Formats: sequence, structure tokens, C-alpha cells
Amino acid sequence: MLAERFVWDITYACPLRCTHCYSESGRRPPKTLTPADLMRVADVIVGVKAKRAAISGGEPLIVDGWRDAAKRLRDAGIYVTLYTSGWVMDERVAEDLAGSVTKVIVSLDGATEATHDAIRQRSGSHRRAREALGALARVKNDRVASGRETYSLGVDYTVVRSNFNEMDAFVPDITKSFPGLDYVRFAMAVPEGPAADEDFAERELLTNEEMLALPASEARLAALARHGVQVSVTDMRYYVPYSPYGTVGATIAHLEPDGQLRAFGVYEAKVGSVLEEPFEVLWRRALAWRNDPFVMEQIKSIETPHDWARVARVLDRRYGSDPDKARIALRLAKGR
Ligand code: SF4
Repeated sequence: MLAERFVWDITYACPLRCTHCYSESGRRPPKTLTPADLMRVADVIVGVKAKRAAISGGEPLIVDGWRDAAKRLRDAGIYVTLYTSGWVMDERVAEDLAGSVTKVIVSLDGATEATHDAIRQRSGSHRRAREALGALARVKNDRVASGRETYSLGVDYTVVRSNFNEMDAFVPDITKSFPGLDYVRFAMAVPEGPAADEDFAERELLTNEEMLALPASEARLAALARHGVQVSVTDMRYYVPYSPYGTVGATIAHLEPDGQLRAFGVYEAKVGSVLEEPFEVLWRRALAWRNDPFVMEQIKSIETPHDWARVARVLDRRYGSDPDKARIALRLAKGR
């Protein structure tokens, strides 16, 4: 099985502190590489002929060298999506994005400023995300009008219990406000990292009934969109490798900022650095980890979002490195 898709978190530094952040960004060492080493990682991704790469974090746009690394991937024919909170966006950055990525996604987590800022744990984050979308839409529309290459533009809405009932109000507002927007995606919060902790799961993780209602909401939400914006809804279960839902997730390779390949898309286990060993060796090791009988038994037990959170906690504590386990213990002691 080939690694067709990469999730590449290029830093754990982030100006926000989102309650659902599975990578614990902003609350742990950034692990950011130098621009030269970023290019080495980009060359690894190119070398294995990946089809898609999602550049994320942390906030990728605060990393020195993001643009050249993204461009290296895109120039090799890889479909490059960059995820941002929009915190540091302006029209100059939007122009840089137009020259280096295929798609830009801005995160927005509610129909109201109060809801978004509470989830993102930073006042002003809703205003700045909308300003970012405005800048991105203007640059995109100008470039389309003058026949220049540009990105497609999307919004990701991470669905938790506190914004579950704002989805219907969100779609007409966001699609009317930003002509040039191409996609809106609603994605259930992935119960990993801090989002798997029991207090978060209790307060914010969708119930099984809410998760099962998500797919049926897609047609209703799509009908509310203006300007032909495509609306999709996902419960994110394709991230669970080898589960009944995980066929896509099984081919995802997840890179940490320092070049470590995670054994699983979203658990703490790591199998080595792409800066130190050939990717093929690490990928074989990752697939072997995923077939570990204990792991398989745990994954087969997942039926609900809360099962997924429980399994994430079990696997993190079993397979995380000693520093990872110490970080998790500190996080729990601090109550996030
Ligand atoms: S903006 Fe993204 S990376 Fe930063 S804390 Fe929020 S979810 Fe995590």
C-alpha cells in the first residue's frame, strides 16, 4: 500500500489555542525545521510520488520557508492544500499562496464571533479569519479576471457540540459574504490529542446520534449555499486506519514538524525521521505498527466518537515516546 496522501504539520507554533486541536499546537515546542530542512522533507514527499499533500500545523504561514516548500510540492504535480486560521493573512501573503499552493482552507468554527472565539480561545480570531477570507477572495478574483494561476478557496468548520446548531446559519452567510469561495466543509472534530481527553469529550465531542446525523445534513446545508459554493460534510472516520471507515485513511502519511513519521495518522506513535532514514523503510514500519494485534483490537472496538477518543487515549499512552507521555501527563494535570 502506497503513501498517496501526506498530512504535513510544519510547526506546532500557533497564535490560537483551539479546544479541539488534535495536534496540541501552541501548547508544545514548535519543532519547526530550518528552510533548508523543510525543502529536504518536501523532496521526500516528491520522491515517493505522493498525489496530495496537506500543509498544516500549527499555523503554517508563520514558518520561514513555507512558500518555497509548498511550491516545490506543487511544481512536482502534487495537489497542495494549505490550512490556516487566517491570523497572519494579508493580500501579500495571498499572492504568495497563489504562486505556491492548489487550495487554501481557512478555519471558521461558528456562525457568530462569540462561538468561534470561544472555541478558538482567542479574542479577535473570528474577525481576522473573515478578513483573511476577504483578502484571499479579492486576490483570487483579481487573478482569475486577469487569467493568472490561483488557488481554489475553502472554509473548514470543525463540528463540536457548541457549534452544532449554527451550521444552518453559517452556510448562507459565509457563501453570500465571500464571492469567489469554492467550498465549505463541515468536519467532525477528530478525537485525538487534547480532543480525546475526557473533559473535552464530555463537553464538546459529538454524541453518536449527532455524528450519525451529519451525512444526512449535507443535502440540507448544500441547499442553503449561494453562488454555487460546494458544501460537504464528513465525520472524519476515514482517519481511523483499517476500520470499516478507514480505506482512505490507511494511505495517509502524517509528518510531524521535525520530520518524524507518525505510525498512525493521528496517534502519538512515531517510527523515525524522514531526514534520517529512507521513507520506504519508515512506511513499512508504520504499516507494521498499524497491523499490531493490540492496535487492531483497539481499532475494531470503535463504534462511536467516544470509543474513538478512548482508543486514542489508550494508544497515545501505550505508544507515545517518554517525552510525549510526560507532555500528556502535564496537560492532564493542568486541565488543558
Ligand atoms: S488554529 Fe489549528 S493548529 Fe492552531 S490551535 Fe487551532 S486547530 Fe490547532
